[in-house]
Amino acid sequence: GRKKYVIANWKMNQNLQETLSFFQKIQDEDGVEVVICPPAPLLLPAHTQIMQEGKKLSLGAQNVHQEEKGAYTGEIAANLVKEFGCQYTLIGHSERRQYFQEDDQTISLKVKRALQEGLTPVVCIGETLEQKHQAQTEKVLTSQILLALEGVNPADVIFAYEPVWAIGTGESASPEEAQKMHHYIRAVLSHIDKKSAEQIAILYGGSVNETNAKEYALMPDIDGVLVGGASLKVDAFQKIITVF
Ligand code: 13P
Repeated sequence: GRKKYVIANWKMNQNLQETLSFFQKIQDEDGVEVVICPPAPLLLPAHTQIMQEGKKLSLGAQNVHQEEKGAYTGEIAANLVKEFGCQYTLIGHSERRQYFQEDDQTISLKVKRALQEGLTPVVCIGETLEQKHQAQTEKVLTSQILLALEGVNPADVIFAYEPVWAIGTGESASPEEAQKMHHYIRAVLSHIDKKSAEQIAILYGGSVNETNAKEYALMPDIDGVLVGGASLKVDAFQKIITVF
């Protein structure tokens, strides 16, 4: 079977003390890749803490810039987060698309940059509520997938299906609804490369918590979860890890 992932997206939350205490408490598990994406300034202390604890936990950035380096005040280079212990980076999270004007073209460049620097991109895709109501979900997902994968080997990428209407709302997609979309995403990937499509991990994100996580884990095309709010509390997040 495919590798399983449980990824924490802390967004703009947690301070240094909370981070150190989180990494002291959290336990790794066999058979699931656990990735924490803290705010960028917390990557190095988190990395040091993981090393000290000797735990099998991975780090991801929440975003990286598409250029290698240069005059981009306030931005973060992919090779820097790599140096600070990251193996992964989220790309194109809906909050980046919505509040920071990231379009599919930028996202495509970021995917390429991440791969060049040896990071695995976790590409976030998903429809807004308006697009869902207009029956555009499949069209939106297809175009997001095709643009993100332009010029890259699909097998090198992880996808996260995060319907925008399910993020931070408590209104998660039902496991059946999510499975249907994951199946659709895999079908799109299979048009690009049949063999890779079977290997690519597709994670669900959007109001995942310690109660509903196990229902997603049962679905054949759901290979893990991307967790926001519930990843901030170590007990809730630990329970989510356990079901995968
Ligand atoms: P919530 O789990 O808080 O809904 O956030 C999901 C998300 O955006 C993860 O990237």
